[in-house]
Order: sequence, then structure tokens, then C-alpha cells
Amino acid sequence: MARIQQLDPHLAAKIAAGEVIERPASVVKELVENALDAGSRWIRVEVEGGGIDRISVSDDGCGIGTAEVSLAFRRHATSKIHVEDDLDHLHTLGFRGEALPSIAAVADVRLATRTADERVGIEYVVEAGAIEERPVARQAGTSVVVEHLFARFPARRKFLRARSVESAACLQAVVPLALAFPEVQFAVRVDGREALRTPGDGRLRGAAVAVLGAEVDPYLVDVPETVLDGEAEQVVVRVGGLCATGSYHRSGRSGMHVIVNRRPVHNRALLYAVAEAYGSLVPVGRQPVAVLNVEVPPDEVDFNVHPSKLEVKLLRERAVFGAVQRALRGALAGGGWPVATWGPAGSEAGPSAEQAPPWDPQRGDWGVVSATRAGDAQGGRAELLVGGERLEGLRVLGQAGKTYLIAEGDAGVYLVDQHAAHERVLLEELRASLTGRQERQLLLEPAVIEVPPDAAGVVETAAADLASLGFDIEPFGPRQVLLRAVPAVLAARQPGRILGETLVALATGSHGLTWEAQAPWSERLALVLACKTAVRSGDTLERPEMEELLRRLGEATLCRTCAHGRPTAILLSHAQLEREFGRR
Ligand code: ADP
Ligand code: MG
Repeated sequence: MARIQQLDPHLAAKIAAGEVIERPASVVKELVENALDAGSRWIRVEVEGGGIDRISVSDDGCGIGTAEVSLAFRRHATSKIHVEDDLDHLHTLGFRGEALPSIAAVADVRLATRTADERVGIEYVVEAGAIEERPVARQAGTSVVVEHLFARFPARRKFLRARSVESAACLQAVVPLALAFPEVQFAVRVDGREALRTPGDGRLRGAAVAVLGAEVDPYLVDVPETVLDGEAEQVVVRVGGLCATGSYHRSGRSGMHVIVNRRPVHNRALLYAVAEAYGSLVPVGRQPVAVLNVEVPPDEVDFNVHPSKLEVKLLRERAVFGAVQRALRGALAGGGWPVATWGPAGSEAGPSAEQAPPWDPQRGDWGVVSATRAGDAQGGRAELLVGGERLEGLRVLGQAGKTYLIAEGDAGVYLVDQHAAHERVLLEELRASLTGRQERQLLLEPAVIEVPPDAAGVVETAAADLASLGFDIEPFGPRQVLLRAVPAVLAARQPGRILGETLVALATGSHGLTWEAQAPWSERLALVLACKTAVRSGDTLERPEMEELLRRLGEATLCRTCAHGRPTAILLSHAQLEREFGRR
């Protein structure tokens, strides 16, 4: 690697505001990026106590020369850029020379390193601001140990979440980098337990399966390399990667990764392009899984717009958007999967076209709901009254759009959202399990459940709550648990798969639910389990199933809204119908 030099003040000023070490995951991300920039073939990460107690990142990269180590800890000292023009041709993840000094300012840091051409390496220790240096014998490469993060900053520490959440965030900081660098072997241990290991064989599929879990493998298809050329025949954008067919989907965006020029990014427009390319292949409310590599000319992308370097500005965002969609369409069509209808390529729709949430919690759950809010212009000014009393004694008339049950009661005609209603019913029943009022059911044969690395912590933390809900789980192998019994209310609905999805959703926060910070695990589990178990929009229901659902809904005490706060039912009152049909 080039020599480390302090940036001249003009160039330093051009760099987006200072590096922010907000939480342990920021430390992990910076250290792993440094290891990647050093050309490492393997990187080992250890996280203890949520990363607050200890983070260690070791690599076999180029190392830092003994004479330069102290410089590496100076602000704006970097080996990666020297002149302003370099900002337009970044080929490294770091470029600001701020990570090491920022970390050393808020934690104790011990860096040991040796370059291939030096016989003896150096250990450099910054503890409570005091610096010590000593020679050290070690293999070529670098290891950095960060301890006691924010120990001297109680105010910062207060903002940290539970250790399990911080640990999960640390792991999630490595995941996109592992996908962007499949030729590097990553190993992450969280509190001594292996949480991620990528093969480092240079193939995206290997890294993707390690990250997303073995169960995705059969669904993953290659995204054919798609190139858009500019007027002068130069490549404007190149897209490739892997995507899961529409039959594998998740509740959140945890499986969607966009990498631009080998740098994981958060770009709303691109995530939207992915979701839209799948269109109706993925059920409403679910998200597709895809890992996309996007390449654009280095001077057409600006990574220097935000301190976390996650946001990017793309000069030709529309072209990139179009290429992403075309690539995904090619992949999904090639697999013989039905393809939804596409709008014209390009980003006319854009993220703003995302549907507004159909339910506005501010309006109150039992108030007046306007029919136009679901985006149905024909709905006119009709105001639909959301039902008043308990939803008891409803008579099923049918199912509309495989989404709504149509039923009749004393007050008028009800439209019942089948997912929302089922979710509400299950939630009530699961809560009843907690008070010992429901049974659990033994499985005929115990099921082995894969616990993806990021969910292992949840199994441990929530063991007692899982048991009180009616799950009987025991450890089984490094990444598996044995499921012997489940709450009876879930028994009919693939409880093993649902439990796995629930654990992942809780570990990654991808459940789209909100709860109080103190909400007990039992409640969180019940909420997510209910959501995952409930019939979905798009499921055809037989009449007895509909009757059963309405009967149970009638018994639920809080029947008016689902766990997300959306209404479970809308009432078209007799008066309303008469008014609409001009009978009154
Ligand atoms: P930046 O990555 O923006 O240059 P950092 O503060 O993260 O700034 O690192 C400062 C310098 O220290 C880097 O430019 C690099 O030369 C050196 N360095 C840091 N970590 C490593 C590592 N793991 N291997 C080799 N060199 C490293
Ligand atoms: Mg760096």
C-alpha cells in the first residue's frame, strides 16, 4: 500500500463531515473496511458483549510499516488518497483517514501489525489517551482490538441498545461487505460462537448462501450480466449478481443488497427498482431477496456525500435504475417464472410512487375511513364507517380479491382483511398461552430447524419466553435446534418454518412492527409469530376456513385492528348503502 500521509487541509475540508462512531457496529465496519483495503484474503472478526466489551478484527493484509503506525492514528492521515482528483477515482473503501483516530478517541485500542518486508512488527496501544509502542513478533497482517467502547462517555453509552441488538448490528455491518468481497474469507464470532463464515472462493453464491442461509440456495438464480452503453459506446452501467425467485421472500429488506463498485450502499431508488422488478411475483407486504453488483464509471458515482459512506449519488441514476430492472427481469423470466407486467424502463415511477400506507394511525382505528385512501379514485367521497361493536355473529358471503372476506352482520356489510384479522386472532390466542390458558401440541416427529447465525442470540435470550408460549426447543448441532412441541394455535401452519422466520425477523429488526423499548420478549415473539403465521393476502380460503376465522375474530377482545394497527374490518352500514344507492 502507498505511504500514509496527512491530507493537506484543503483536501481534508472537501471530505464529508467527520467519521462518526455511533455504536459498536460502526467500529466493526471501519475496521473490516480497512482490512479489505489492505488486500486481505481472510478477515476474522470477534464481537463480545455487544461489541461494547471487545471487538477484534484480524487480517492477513499488507500491514502497516513500523514507522507509519503512529501516523495512522492521526486525523486525516491516509494512504488511500493524496490529491483531490483521487476522490473521483476511489478504489478503496476508506479515504478519509479518520477511522482509527475516531475509534481511539472513544475506546482503548491495541493495534498489532507487520508488513511482509519487515522482520519485526509493532504493537501500538492507545489506552485512556496514553500511547505505548513496542516491537512484536507476529505474522504479516494487522489485528486491531477495541475495548471499553464509550467507557469514558456515559452519555454516548446510554444510547446503545441491548447487547444482543448491538451484536446483531455488528454482524449486519459485516454481511454486506462479505457479499461485496466473495474472494475474501470472512469469519465472525459473536460471544465465542460462530455467527458467519464465508468460503472466500470468489463466487457470489457461496457468500450469499453463507449470509442468507442454506435454505435460499435452491431459489437463487444468476442475474445475467446486463450492460448499458452510452452514446460513445462506453459502458455506463453493468449489473450482475444473484436473485431469489419470487417464491422465496422475506418480511423485510434484510435480503436485498445493492453493491455499487464493490461498495455496499443504501440507495432508496435502487432498492425500489429491485422491489418493483419483482412486482406481483412477491406477495403483498413481502420483500424479494437479491444481491446485485452494479458497476458504474468511478467518476459517475459520489461516495463522499455522507459520513457513513453508505449513501451514494449516481450521476445517471435513471440509467442504473433501468439496468437493474432489465437485469432482474432477465433473471426472473429465464427461470420460467411468471413475470409481472412492466412499466416502461426507467424511473418514471420513482420511489415517490410507493403506495402511501393505506392506514393512517393518526385517524384512530375506529373512526371514519375514506375509501379514497386505498388509492381507489373511483371510491369518490364515500366515507366508510369502520364497524362499531364486536364483530360477532357475522355471516360469510364470500372472498374478494383473495384478500378480503365479505360478511354480513346486523349493522351492515363487512369487509374483513383476512391477514389482519387472522393476525389479530392469533395474537390474542398466543397471549392466552402466556397465561397458561392454551395448550401446546407435541409434534409427531421433532423438527430440526436451521437457526441462521444472526438469530442464534434470540433463541438464547428468549428461551424462557419461547417455552412459556408453548415451544419445546433444545439445542441441536451448531446452527440447529430441535423443535418438539409448538403452541397448539400454530400447529396447523408450518410452525417450524414460521419459528425460523420469526427468529430472524426479531434478530434483524425486519418485522416492521414497533413496540415499547421495555416490551418483553414474550410479547415481541407473539406479535411476530402472529404476523408470520397468519394467512396472507392472496391465499384462497374455503368457506369453513372463513367461518372459523370470523368466529374467532368475534371472540377476540381487541378485534378492531391487527398487530400493525391497520383495521381488521370495514363496515358499510345499512344507512351508508342506502345513501350510496340513492335510496334515501
Ligand atoms: P482510511 O481508511 O480512511 O485511510 P483509517 O483511519 O481507517 O483511514 O486508517 C488510516 C490508515 O491506516 C490507512 O490509510 C491505512 O494505510 C492504514 N491501515 C489501517 N488499517 C489497516 C489494516 N488493517 N491493514 C493495513 N493498513 C491499515
Ligand atoms: Mg478506514
